[in-house]
Amino acid sequence: MEELKQIWQKVLEDLAEEVSAVSFDSWIKPIEAVEINDTRIVLKVPFAVNKNMIMTKYFSLIESCLESVTSHKFDIDVLVDEEKDFPKEIDHITTENTLNPKYTFSSFVVGNNNNLAYVASLAVAERPAKTYNPLFLYGGSGLGKTHLMQAIGNYFIENYPKKRVLYTTSEKFTYELVTAIREKTNQAFRNKYRNVDLLLIDDVQFLANRELAQEEFFHTFNALYEMDKQIVLTSDRLPSEIPQLEERLVTRFNSGLLADVQPPDYETRMAILKNKIQSEYLSVDDEIMEFIADSIKSNVRDLEGAVKRILVYAGIKRTNEISMELATEALRDILSSQPERAITTKVIIDEVEKYYGLSKGSLVSKKRSADVALPRQIAMYIAREILDDPSFPKIGEAFGGRDHTTVLHNVRKIAKDIETDSEVSKSVKEIISNIKKG
Ligand code: ADP
Ligand code: MG
Repeated sequence: MEELKQIWQKVLEDLAEEVSAVSFDSWIKPIEAVEINDTRIVLKVPFAVNKNMIMTKYFSLIESCLESVTSHKFDIDVLVDEEKDFPKEIDHITTENTLNPKYTFSSFVVGNNNNLAYVASLAVAERPAKTYNPLFLYGGSGLGKTHLMQAIGNYFIENYPKKRVLYTTSEKFTYELVTAIREKTNQAFRNKYRNVDLLLIDDVQFLANRELAQEEFFHTFNALYEMDKQIVLTSDRLPSEIPQLEERLVTRFNSGLLADVQPPDYETRMAILKNKIQSEYLSVDDEIMEFIADSIKSNVRDLEGAVKRILVYAGIKRTNEISMELATEALRDILSSQPERAITTKVIIDEVEKYYGLSKGSLVSKKRSADVALPRQIAMYIAREILDDPSFPKIGEAFGGRDHTTVLHNVRKIAKDIETDSEVSKSVKEIISNIKKG
């Protein structure tokens, strides 16, 4: 038991680095680790809603942190504390109607970076199962995939009120499947997923390594496809790049249209900012918007975060006229963690590419050949070692939108290599010293 306590304490420390403070307090802290054996760990949470949140948002993160702490892959069970939980109904927060009504086509700003994804999504909404089936949207985090996918769902609800729409994430799908098997409600599960006109599955990269879920999803997919029902999927990468995804699923996913979303260029960032700021009835000078668009380049979620912070500051100061001074103050924390820092992931990547004589951009590219694979793993390891804020998801993002579990595995691999392979250990030392020299 002592051992379990210690393990869990370490996992919590890791998790605290990976999620925001608010999420940590609301969802992670209440988790109690109650049992462990060689293969399984049992976690307990106070309410069904906590479990729901964990299964949909934090499961794979917990899984990977646990694995990194213990160097061992556990099955994780999450129990709801019977004594504390409400009577049943809250246990049935279902995926139906969980579309965010704000995610519509009209609130989506179209730019060169997302044009194809937008046009394809609209086509699918207007002529379901007649154009691209499935539609597969892919790209880095915070670039509008969920928004577009839900825009299709919202379009259905508005224009075809009789059609059934089901939105879920691949994690939730997996979780429901496992529950259905345990509770012997497989048939209900199947009915639910096969009786829809539009199936939206978000973040299918999390089907990686989940054989059972892949098997079931394959049959769901075929059933819907044969009945001419529209399927839309999103992922942070191409189907062929999802590790351990069965070939037959890769083939299915590739058979429709693959449409990417890229980070927004300057013009699109400005357009998005204008749009968000107008919808908040704020008045902001162009000069200030340019300042924000110049400073925050990574993704749309961060741009939105910046606008939200400015709103909060404007609220505190009771004004809706935003001055440059207020904007700078509001964004100070975000900005100080962004540019001017001496060492960034980019610096590390550049240095590693230089060290190995690779062409610029090789490490963030999709290339997987041996000559880039090892340098990439080393670069990830170094990022984790020397950055100030080296969360796995952030590193993954910087390496062309790779999954946090991939980063975790690579970092661990290099950590082991360093012990056994003097070549690797020497290279890592030299690169770090090059980076520090500037
Ligand atoms: P992803 O699913 O790709 O990680 P989301 O769809 O969740 O990203 O987008 C993150 C946030 O940015 C959402 O609030 C979304 O509304 C907003 N967003 C993304 N792209 C756009 C866009 N082109 N126009 C307007 N808002 C956008
Ligand atoms: Mg998303």
